[in-house]
Amino acid sequence: MTDKAKAAAAYRKLAEAAYELADLYTEAAGGAADDLPPLLREQPLPDVAQQHAETVLGRCPDHDLPWRGVAGGISKRTGNPYKAFWTCQVKECKKRPVKAWEDAHPAAAAA
Ligand SMILES: [Zn+2]
Repeated sequence: MTDKAKAAAAYRKLAEAAYELADLYTEAAGGAADDLPPLLREQPLPDVAQQHAETVLGRCPDHDLPWRGVAGGISKRTGNPYKAFWTCQVKECKKRPVKAWEDAHPAAAAA
């Protein structure tokens, strides 16, 4: 079987499963909630927008790596204290997370 034929067969399987699921939904709509198979019971939907924002904002846009938390300390160069902060895992990278994300994820807790 070629890859294309395999893909077509897989697609058909998916389509059949979707029809079967739709049939189950239709049948189940008349029944009591306890009769539904577990997957069809009402489940709280994840907040997709929030998850998406989390995924996008929680990573360096240039390197696609999660931010790294750095503990606060004293600057060797200036001798001044600095607070914990988030930075890219790539040392030379100057990208930082947006403030809204930083506010929701205290760097001190991760460092
Ligand atoms: Zn980076």
